[in-house]
Amino acid sequence: MQQDCPHLAMRLAGAEPLLAKPITITHIPYGYIRRTSEDGLYCIGDQAAVIPSFTGDGISVALHTARCAVAAYLAGEPAQHFQAKLRSSLLTQMRLAEFAADGMNNSLARAVLPFCLRVWPGVMRVTARLTRVAHHAAEAPHAVAS
Ligand SMILES: Cc1cc2nc3c(=O)[nH]c(=O)nc-3n(C[C@H](O)[C@H](O)[C@H](O)COP(=O)(O)OP(=O)(O)OC[C@H]3O[C@@H](n4cnc5c(N)ncnc54)[C@H](O)[C@@H]3O)c2cc1C
Repeated sequence: MQQDCPHLAMRLAGAEPLLAKPITITHIPYGYIRRTSEDGLYCIGDQAAVIPSFTGDGISVALHTARCAVAAYLAGEPAQHFQAKLRSSLLTQMRLAEFAADGMNNSLARAVLPFCLRVWPGVMRVTARLTRVAHHAAEAPHAVAS
């Protein structure tokens, strides 16, 4: 990365590892969408939904679900009701993201992908759009009170 990006190389010049080995993460529950909540908690962000990483949409989902939770709370909507509605509003996006992520992990799909990109260069744009919080989902299911 430093070879490809001189600015990064400049930033990291002289840097030394602080840990003996890198911190790693594993078993991220991609595709998880919370069905219900307990104790009146409005669950948001990764506690509400964990979209596959390749979409780069986790932060947007976190902000979106926070916004929805605030609107639901202000509207007096019970947490359990909110959670169920949130789940159905994110379900399509999540399942498409899982499908695309599984495809990218599949060696046959990876072999076919370059061919698909040649035939239909816009396929990645369409995939990206379908795996993001949709504009309509950003307004629904709860409108924010001004
Ligand atoms: C390696 C990796 C790369 C990613 N890359 C991207 C990306 O490029 N683009 C993107 O959009 N998303 C990315 N994501 C996903 C994104 O980071 C998350 O979806 C998003 O941060 C979720 O926000 P959150 O507020 O739910 O949780 P978090 O951002 O995890 O915030 C939760 C916070 O709560 C704190 N906390 C936990 N327990 C307690 C406790 N008991 N008391 C007090 N504080 C507590 C934690 O320390 C943390 O600061 C990535 C995730 C990972 C793991």
